Amino acid sequence: MHEVGIANSILEAGRTETARRPGAKLMGIGVRVGVLSGVDVDALRFAFECIIAGTEDEKVVLTAENCPRMNRCEDCGREYVSPQLSPFTDAPCPGCTSHHTSFVSGDQLDIAFVEVEEP
Ligand SMILES: [Zn+2]
Repeated sequence: MHEVGIANSILEAGRTETARRPGAKLMGIGVRVGVLSGVDVDALRFAFECIIAGTEDEKVVLTAENCPRMNRCEDCGREYVSPQLSPFTDAPCPGCTSHHTSFVSGDQLDIAFVEVEEP
């Protein structure tokens, strides 16, 4: 279950951010998970809860936001949600039906925010 490793990295990132502010307490971490990242959000949440259980960070709330696959149309510049999940096929532009489109995002796993409580 590689979500455990990812959950660990997320927690580390949160702790690093918190350590920059003396006396601050880590409260929550938000992540953006792209549909193409291969990460199961429920498994990630579960792994995170297992990791923090019994530690000083056991109250930390993990907020995971699913991000769709986004494409950009090279002909009209429109960015849209591409419903096809295969990395090799693109849905045509809903604006002008062009197939001349490029991948924008959907494989990301980013920290969106770290919430700390300052004394
Ligand atoms: Zn278009």
